[in-house]
Amino acid sequence: MTGKSSRFPEADLHCHTTSSDGLLTPRELVQAASKLGLKAVGITDHDTISGWNEAVAAGEELDVEILRGIELNTDWNGIEVHILGYEPSGESIPFQEKLRELREGRSNRIIKILGRLHDMNVKIAPEEIKAIAQGESIGRPHVAQVLVQRGYVETIKEAFDQYIGTGAPAYVPHLKLTPEEGINLIRTAGGVAVLAHPGINQLDHQILPWVKAGLQGIEVSHSDHTPEDEQHYRSLAKLYRLIMTGGSDFHGEECKPGVKLGGWGVSYEVTEEIRELAITSKR
Ligand code: AMP
Ligand code: FE
Ligand code: FE
Ligand code: ZN
Repeated sequence: MTGKSSRFPEADLHCHTTSSDGLLTPRELVQAASKLGLKAVGITDHDTISGWNEAVAAGEELDVEILRGIELNTDWNGIEVHILGYEPSGESIPFQEKLRELREGRSNRIIKILGRLHDMNVKIAPEEIKAIAQGESIGRPHVAQVLVQRGYVETIKEAFDQYIGTGAPAYVPHLKLTPEEGINLIRTAGGVAVLAHPGINQLDHQILPWVKAGLQGIEVSHSDHTPEDEQHYRSLAKLYRLIMTGGSDFHGEECKPGVKLGGWGVSYEVTEEIRELAITSKR
């Protein structure tokens, strides 16, 4: 049934690669998906589409369909809200320019984070981050990996809890983009705008205003959702007539332990629904 996630999903529509903060290259990710027998994978790196081409080429070879996606970090009154975009046009100049601005914001933010860490006597050089980050979109997981490597903490989770997570002493917020601006950015480029993992921040009262602003889907199946969250957002999606998407938010075992590729997701038809919606939006 459309939108229904099964125990072994056919499509994992939320995955990160080395283009942002994932540990597998786009090709390695598609190879892993193929081994698992996944029919489709969504590449949703943070603020970059640089993984798309390699993933699509590997997908053609290995018979895994690729949904071209993006994940944007937005801010609603100090709370992080992530917006996924599927099949926006990579050719759109305003889209490309905004992504570049967001990535610049990411790099500047990391420098500020390193400054705060320095004040805490945790001395990490920008070059150490650059050595870890292989792609063009830098993020806190890269800082967390260096904190582990340098022995300041034992795990990525500890790095977030003690240093760089929300509310931790070296936390620096993102460049401010509102959820409406994020939705607009994706829609203007002809993509399908989806609210990522709503169970994390539970801003249910905001969903209707965002739908009015152009939101078209909700991620119901996600590694951070409880079965109750999934059920709840499934009913909200029905109520607001939104597309129900899903995915693991795979970053790699060392980055997010226990979050397996293909562990969360949707049936293959959802991929087709998303494509149809993207085509209709582009008309
Ligand atoms: P950034 O995009 O730089 O704000 O970093 C956010 C990313 O950090 C998310 O996409 C997750 O991959 C990761 N992350 C956030 N919180 C944690 C945590 N507590 N443990 C591990 N990874 C986390
Ligand atoms: Fe991430
Ligand atoms: Fe997210
Ligand atoms: Zn994600």
